[in-house]
Amino acid sequence: MKKTVTTLADSRELIYYDSADDTVRDAVDPRPLDAVSTSSEIRHDALLGDSVAIASHRQGRTYHPPADECPLCPSREGRHSEIPDTDYDVAVFENRFPSLAGDSGRCEVVCFTSDHDVSFAGLTDDQAALVLEAWTDRTADLAELPQVAQVFCFENRGAEIGVTLGHPHGQIYGYPFVTPRTEQMLRSMEAHRADTGRNLFDDVVARELADGERVVLEGEHWVAFVPYAAHWPYEVHLHPRRRVPDLRELDEAARTEFPQVYLELLRRFDRIFGPGEPPTPYISAWHQAPFRVPGREEFALHLELFTIRRTTGKLKFLAGSESGMGVFINDVPPEAAAQRLREVASE
Ligand SMILES: [Zn+2]
Repeated sequence: MKKTVTTLADSRELIYYDSADDTVRDAVDPRPLDAVSTSSEIRHDALLGDSVAIASHRQGRTYHPPADECPLCPSREGRHSEIPDTDYDVAVFENRFPSLAGDSGRCEVVCFTSDHDVSFAGLTDDQAALVLEAWTDRTADLAELPQVAQVFCFENRGAEIGVTLGHPHGQIYGYPFVTPRTEQMLRSMEAHRADTGRNLFDDVVARELADGERVVLEGEHWVAFVPYAAHWPYEVHLHPRRRVPDLRELDEAARTEFPQVYLELLRRFDRIFGPGEPPTPYISAWHQAPFRVPGREEFALHLELFTIRRTTGKLKFLAGSESGMGVFINDVPPEAAAQRLREVASE
């Protein structure tokens, strides 16, 4: 793998990750860009104790551009995008419209491939392996920034999720605080340790494997299951069998197997609702241990993949109970979701 770090015309960072070790990336961004104006501000909610990023500059962001004006495609003669080179394997750059910036963290865009018309599920094993390397390397780099407490690599796929660019890409958020869901997991983990002396994540995975009814896929180094109390209609948690706190700690064997397992899960997601349905919208979310908290070594890196589509043509909305009270109502029993996700396995 070859990593090339450069900057765009407005001095945002751009990093190329290439499979071939002898790749040269020296194209210069010729665009006359104004400096990025970021006014994002973190406000604390006194009642809930959580934080909200107020980012009004994002209202002007690029919204569903035509394919020939895609800012994530490589540049070509007369058409300069966010990627100055005429080709790339994987490219990561600082978001021009960040929700978090400066002392408030960092937002990056990850272009999974230069091919505009493919989805992650259509990548080769080698391409997916390179994306995993990029996620891992970004986690390692952002860990060095004092303002970043936690790194979140994720992909939103589908207009239904609010994706405004068709090009296959994901994002990385470096939060300046530990997120509420992670804090909750850390609290549950500590309580379980106090009660039982054991690790909560280990016990959850072991229970799912022993039960078997919600297991979706088992590799030599990874296991995927629908959680017992799934919040979303189709939701899968993917864990490495050897528990590690973050992407940096995955061993070679787990890295090597990851593309097969993850691509298979994504391909199954696209088959859930049968042929003729548009691609399944999904959110794919890496949960990693925050950097400077007690007990981080006990946290379990895992990926949560879920769709907001509950049946053909119908989306699950976060309505009164979910949005108003934080109580999810799931119409698809987790056991039925797991059954469906086994039925649609690749031949
Ligand atoms: Zn594109």
